[in-house]
Amino acid sequence: MHSQLHQGSCLCESVRYEVTGHLGPLVYCHCHCKRCRKANGSAFIAVAPVPKTHFKITHGETCLNTYRSEAGVCRTFCNRCGSPIMAYRESDPDTLRLRVGTLDTPLPTHVSAHIFVASKAEWDDIHDTAPQYAERP
Ligand SMILES: [Zn+2]
Ligand SMILES: [Zn+2]
Repeated sequence: MHSQLHQGSCLCESVRYEVTGHLGPLVYCHCHCKRCRKANGSAFIAVAPVPKTHFKITHGETCLNTYRSEAGVCRTFCNRCGSPIMAYRESDPDTLRLRVGTLDTPLPTHVSAHIFVASKAEWDDIHDTAPQYAERP
């Protein structure tokens, strides 16, 4: 069993976290939906599902705010620098959707899939061979 510790932080480094557990490399996808684009100001987000029990804020918990957006999706971000850290659904609070762009440790994998491609920005071109889904697979 491969075990790996991932560590990450927000832009201002007030918030730091660890992902532990029986993980191999995190599997992540790119979500191109409009809500994620708005939340991140970019063409897509890179997001990995992480069990809540494997995620720990090690520093700066008081710097986290959560914005409850559409349909019970809670987006948690640093209230000093605005870095999005993770999101979760109120209906599934035990699965966190980690924003892997905030990792400081290497992630030796490639994107596994593109989701919500049907609503991607018209200027967003996908250049890899990972499977594409109109919405969720
Ligand atoms: Zn910050
Ligand atoms: Zn999305």
